[in-house]
Amino acid sequence: MSRTNDLRHVIEADRAHVWHHLSQHKPYESVDPRVMVEGKGMRVWDATGREYLDAVAGGVWTVNVGYGRTSIADAVRDQLVKLNYFAGSAGSVPAALFSERLIEKMPGMSRVYYSNSGSEANEKVFKMVRQIAHRHHGGRKAKILYRERDYHGTTIGALAAAGQDQRRDQYGPFPDGFVMVPHCLEYRSQWGAVENYGEMAADAIEAVILREGPDTIGAICLEPVTAGGGVITPPKGYWEKVQDICRRHEILIHIDEVVCGMGRTGAWFGYQTYGVQPDFVTMAKGVASGYAAIACTTTTEAVFALFKDDAADPMSYFRDISTFGGCTAGPAAALETMRIIEDEGLLENTVAMGERLMAGLHGLAERHAVVGDVRGKGLFYGAELVADRATKEPAEEKRVQAVVADCMAHGVIIGATNRSLAGLNNTLCLSPALIATPADIDRIVEAIDGALGRVFA
Ligand code: PLP
Repeated sequence: MSRTNDLRHVIEADRAHVWHHLSQHKPYESVDPRVMVEGKGMRVWDATGREYLDAVAGGVWTVNVGYGRTSIADAVRDQLVKLNYFAGSAGSVPAALFSERLIEKMPGMSRVYYSNSGSEANEKVFKMVRQIAHRHHGGRKAKILYRERDYHGTTIGALAAAGQDQRRDQYGPFPDGFVMVPHCLEYRSQWGAVENYGEMAADAIEAVILREGPDTIGAICLEPVTAGGGVITPPKGYWEKVQDICRRHEILIHIDEVVCGMGRTGAWFGYQTYGVQPDFVTMAKGVASGYAAIACTTTTEAVFALFKDDAADPMSYFRDISTFGGCTAGPAAALETMRIIEDEGLLENTVAMGERLMAGLHGLAERHAVVGDVRGKGLFYGAELVADRATKEPAEEKRVQAVVADCMAHGVIIGATNRSLAGLNNTLCLSPALIATPADIDRIVEAIDGALGRVFA
């Protein structure tokens, strides 16, 4: 059978049996589902042979060092033939070595707990916070704050902490003890045009804390830059004040770096850009760049100590396991991913290419009235589309999707924010691999330029 016939068979097998993530399948009755076949650097090819420039690092900001890295494949292969797996109640060579390298990059942090996905890494924190509440606060301080428009994962526990209605709707009931605080998107300020928006957004968190009772709240979970909820960079003064509020009320700070971690914002971690000292940091997507599944929940020695203070108590330790948190491929791939980022100067490239991307997007805002706001950090940008700049009425979802489809038709894959019942699914998302060149950035901007012109003509 020819390669073309093989791939035709693959497409039909996909259509018949694969349930795609986040997808309505009715259209696949008349059009082929897209099946990806190959990737190299910034480019991917689908089963029909079409080439795309990928401006979203594997669709969901994951493939940070690009496709086709044989050195990662070799590192994983070498590790797999030596020892593929042993339960995480024991250590492994790559887990120990990656933990050491990771903690070097995270002053103040000390311990790494391995699992498989961003959702799971976040759930570990929720369990740790609850156990600390039960063991050290008489069952109080068990509530967890989360923010409107943030997202922390797909499991029922993580969805209980999701500030995105489109992800939650119809999946309830959710567990108790999760409390939402207001978003911090200045472009859609809840208080109109104010000088000190960042401080007001932080004060709004404190108001929730005071309403609930500070002695009932154990932690706050925040994305450093909100990803799927609109690429929301924190406003000036926000993080400083949030940190101060949390310290005053003895609330642990959990930063969800599942998207921003490992270089996406131009620093190893997004929170480091904003001078925060967290108690927990979770990460997943970019850690091994999608070459193997891995997620990490990191914490401080002070938090870790709370789980070993009374060895005589048979319930004192963290009673949690993740079977595949014992896979060795993840940390082996992560070690090599980290080496690539360092040796190829990819943090520096992220900063430089991020500036080029930002300039390009601001140029689009000058040419297209539909671009209402441009925001982001490093190689992580969003362009919010509006029907009317004065009222900021969101652009229609179908037109936002048409821009994404037009870029795809012109060979560039971009993303858009999660669909929202509130109609705020109007932000184009860009997160190219950290290896992007000036030519790649220019091509991405050109594709969006053309698409905006055609869709909003
Ligand atoms: N946290 C954030 C900020 C995310 O964007 C995501 C996924 O998109 C998750 C957590 C969940 O990660 P995973 O899909 O690996 O469970």
